[in-house]
Amino acid sequence: MEPVLLRARGVPNSRHIDTYLAAGGYEGLKKALTMDPEAVTKEVLDSELRGRGGAGFPTGRKWTFVPKEHPGPKYLICNADESEPGTFKDREIIEYDPHLLIEGIAIASYAIRANTAYIYIRGEFVRWARILETAIAEARQRDILGASVMGSNYRLDVWVHRGAGAYICGEETSLIESLEGKRGFPRLKPPFPAVVGVFGKPTVVNNVETLACVPSILTRGAAWFASIGRPRNTGPKLYCVSGHVRRPGVYELPMGVTFREIIEEHCGGIRDGHTLKAFFPGGSSAPVMTPDQIDVKADFDACAEAGSMLGSGGVIVLDDSVDMVEAAANLAHFYAHESCGQCTPCREGSDWAMDILDRILEGHGRPEDPATLLRICQYASQGMTICPLGDAFALPISSIVKKFPYEFERHIAAATPRPPKKLPVLPWAGPRPGFDGQ
Ligand code: SF4
Repeated sequence: MEPVLLRARGVPNSRHIDTYLAAGGYEGLKKALTMDPEAVTKEVLDSELRGRGGAGFPTGRKWTFVPKEHPGPKYLICNADESEPGTFKDREIIEYDPHLLIEGIAIASYAIRANTAYIYIRGEFVRWARILETAIAEARQRDILGASVMGSNYRLDVWVHRGAGAYICGEETSLIESLEGKRGFPRLKPPFPAVVGVFGKPTVVNNVETLACVPSILTRGAAWFASIGRPRNTGPKLYCVSGHVRRPGVYELPMGVTFREIIEEHCGGIRDGHTLKAFFPGGSSAPVMTPDQIDVKADFDACAEAGSMLGSGGVIVLDDSVDMVEAAANLAHFYAHESCGQCTPCREGSDWAMDILDRILEGHGRPEDPATLLRICQYASQGMTICPLGDAFALPISSIVKKFPYEFERHIAAATPRPPKKLPVLPWAGPRPGFDGQ
């Protein structure tokens, strides 16, 4: 497949606006401005583009939720937080083709009638924030952004907003809270951001890769986009592969290639002397998959049917050198650290899971530990928390417990009971001089 999202990778001076314009850049925006906003939305609906940030919600449908007749401002937010472990694809787009993203933002903003768009980027991504600011300045200079977008009567301002670096701010409602200057606490839904979003106004939040798909849908048409992949799972997709493969990296492939093609063909297979043990298909919050599932298609529906999820497309590959209990403990530490603390099952559950897994690794596992872990995970998932972080820690950990029970059994069989804790002797625990008998 000819690259669409990574077409600028390797092109000299690819970030400059002249390079982008010379390659046919901003033609999609030009075309969109000749259409009704509803027609632009319809084109994206017909393409069957689904969000690339994790949830896989149809992008065009999300845009239709914005109330057309809302009298006040509306906003578009580009989610460039990219905090999911194992995910590093959005930075690749920004690194080589920032104007592709800005064009997608401009088209989406026009479609929902927003005059202000924000790019919310993780605080640590200083390099990519600067690249975006330079590209926005170039677009303003050429009147592609500003009071009169490409000579039309449509006005659009785009701003880069740097977060403070919290995993949870990749979730759209906590991102909105953070953008408003508050602590990144997820909000209860409904109301959904499309109706009550940033500053209480209708807001659409779309991921970088999602928005980068939009210009080519306008220039090449919805039918072209929908012809890649299969119904409901269309278009080009960035798969970022990390872990124990020979050639980790970001690969642009048609949606729905199999994990075997990704791991064996494009990434050169597992490193020498080892075999595949497990892989996370869509970042660390996706339930783990096993070698017998390597022929599953890497698309939204196939991964869901296989009991996991495509998520962000961050494929983390583990070979037979990995202790899966250690892998589970690693995840638990991350999610316990990142829980915002609002919901008891997430706040306490991730901490308990971390403590139990640590204890097993320290050689003090108990026979009942796997069942306890599953019960903790059950309470934290199934929609019992405000945001999906509950599922994000519970689903991968419970999948490891279920799919690798013998690894837990091995640790527990070799365990020794933990010696009882020595309680500290408090200074006032003994008889207090001067107070005895009074
Ligand atoms: Fe916070 Fe976790 Fe509840 Fe999400 S699920 S709101 S991260 S406590």
